Amino acid sequence: MADKKLIGVDLGGTTIKFAILTLEGEIQQRWSIDTNILDDGTHIVPDIVDSINHHLSLYQMDAEDFLGIGMGSPGSVDLQAGTVTGAFNLNWKTLQYVKRDIEAGTGITFTIDNDANVAALGERWKGAGENEANVIFITLGTGVGGGLIADGHLLHGVAGSGGEIGHVTVQPNGYLCTCGKRGCLETVASATGVVRVARDMAEEYSGDSKLKATLDDGDEISSKIVFDLAKANDPLALMVVDRVTNYLGLALANAANLLNPAFIVIGGGVSAAGDFLLTRVDKAFKTNTFPNVRETTHLRLATLGNEAGVIGAASLAKAAVNG
Ligand SMILES: [Zn+2]
Repeated sequence: MADKKLIGVDLGGTTIKFAILTLEGEIQQRWSIDTNILDDGTHIVPDIVDSINHHLSLYQMDAEDFLGIGMGSPGSVDLQAGTVTGAFNLNWKTLQYVKRDIEAGTGITFTIDNDANVAALGERWKGAGENEANVIFITLGTGVGGGLIADGHLLHGVAGSGGEIGHVTVQPNGYLCTCGKRGCLETVASATGVVRVARDMAEEYSGDSKLKATLDDGDEISSKIVFDLAKANDPLALMVVDRVTNYLGLALANAANLLNPAFIVIGGGVSAAGDFLLTRVDKAFKTNTFPNVRETTHLRLATLGNEAGVIGAASLAKAAVNG
């Protein structure tokens, strides 16, 4: 078993990333293909099978060389059945028999989980999580996702919604979320959430601010623009960042008060704001944690970037065999 390899697959709405890794999590080969979501996404699984088989023959490897394939997928994932449904960015509206078809097509054991959980496993194993048994991962992108690893295991909950930190309420009766509830963390801390907060605060703000002028001119803004202006001491942008980071710190503090992880790892596009974001979130985090948690749980920026998905997927395949 010692020289067997792992395959990690990160299925996204625009690209599918693949990697061949050692059992220690070192990437040996990586490639990607475009995601073809036409015809209700029926090409996706056959494309994955073809791409894996093509690359194995390219590297003169076969199914026997692998311990397993792991994959992170959008949508609702049934871990036991290996099926996915409701992945709307893939046009998968009906039940997809992903495990059955990929195992039949490649002859390699297949394990699947949702993409945020898989990214959490990746950051935990080879990234900022330092392979600790207790790690929380949060990704701040178009939405806000997360994964909870407690005592070495991902928490899925009774219906697979464990770790949905984006829907923690931070503002009762706040903005309406895509989930139908109000005041979710995602409505204020995702990339679109930051812009929403900026627009609202700009309406009430009367001072001198480049951010306000940009919005008043009707120009498009992004969360990156808000953070860049805040770094340049724009007073309104600083107020927006303070509000957003206060909500983030509050939500992460409450997660830590429950789970007391070694690390909370922050990833996703918004986290590109770096230490400027982290120090502000940490301030609100420390205000809202009780002493033992405040002293033992630490916030960190993610370190793996785009590779968290394939690395985490590979660790899923490894765990499926090792238990
Ligand atoms: Zn929500």
